[in-house]
Amino acid sequence: MLHRLKNNFRLSIITLLGVSGIIGITPFAVLRFLQSNLLAAVVDTTILLGVSAGVAYAWLSGDTYRAGYFMAVVSAYGAVVVGGIVGDPGLFWLYPCLITSFFLTPPRAAMIINLSSIALMVIIGKAFRSQEQMWSFLSTALVVTACAYTFARRSQDQRRRLEHLATVDPLTGVQNRRSMDSALDMAAATAERTGLSYALVMLDLDHFKKINDDYGHGTGDEVLTNLVGLLQQNTRRTDQLFRFGGEEFVLLLPGVDGRSLESVMGNLQGVIRKYLRSPGGPVTASFGVALLRHGEPVDSWLERADDALYQAKEAGRDRIVFSDQPMAGARSDADER
Ligand code: GH3
Ligand code: MG
Ligand code: MG
Repeated sequence: MLHRLKNNFRLSIITLLGVSGIIGITPFAVLRFLQSNLLAAVVDTTILLGVSAGVAYAWLSGDTYRAGYFMAVVSAYGAVVVGGIVGDPGLFWLYPCLITSFFLTPPRAAMIINLSSIALMVIIGKAFRSQEQMWSFLSTALVVTACAYTFARRSQDQRRRLEHLATVDPLTGVQNRRSMDSALDMAAATAERTGLSYALVMLDLDHFKKINDDYGHGTGDEVLTNLVGLLQQNTRRTDQLFRFGGEEFVLLLPGVDGRSLESVMGNLQGVIRKYLRSPGGPVTASFGVALLRHGEPVDSWLERADDALYQAKEAGRDRIVFSDQPMAGARSDADER
């Protein structure tokens, strides 16, 4: 339970707001029953039930997105109803809702919930003792909403930028190893559910260190970015490319096996041979290919592709080794000639 609260920001916010809402509203609900103000008591109780249902739904289903929307709407419109029935306490309750809606929903949705609840409060008008109070409420509520919106947008931008930095390789712009781990897990889950075949290709440039040593690191970098360009141009939109580290890349190819996989690999090898160049001449690559087996753990899948790549290097480089048929798969044009 603590683990879930620690790792799921939205769930922790929903829980915190839910618990503080329940603690904050329950005394008022009891008081209204004692004062025989039945309508207000029913409204408070309904808000309490709504908030509790939102928290329970978030915990049970894990769908904190919907639960967040629900809680934001219930609390903001609940405050409006309290304003309409009890009077100015509804105004005070609306302020925390104007802030917390940005914790619970995306900025644009929070903006809509806030503006509509402020407008409703003003239209109903019962919460205000004077025109002056209404104008004060309107201007302060709008200032609170505008500030919270600006802050939420800024946090959203920063989160996106951090996500980008954490998942993309800065040199080549392709996804990094961290992204690869989650993509492989997802692929394994999809294969299990739908039976779609997945091939994993591990590619390592041959004698790359020599390019760096002979022509400098900048030239090496250029070869890497050219390689990425070639791979992206010659794979499908559904294929995914990752930089595994250094001059090693991983390709995840859904929906190919058997002959089609051999022909895709032959084509990639041909394109690299033909177009990848350093000042010293053509640059080649070695490939290890493994098809995901039924129920196979991702680690073992990756290990088989890595073993196949190792065999390709051992057998002389510039070749493709298929993990499932290492002997038949270890070949290069030089062997065929
Ligand atoms: P092999 O054919 O066995 O793969 O030999 P290799 O020289 O390609 O392999 P090795 O692993 O010995 O060398 C890889 C080199 O890649 C060493 C490292 O300096 C270089 N490298 C790693 N990351 C980068 C990078 O981002 N840019 C450049 N220019 N070089 C890099
Ligand atoms: Mg290499
Ligand atoms: Mg290497």
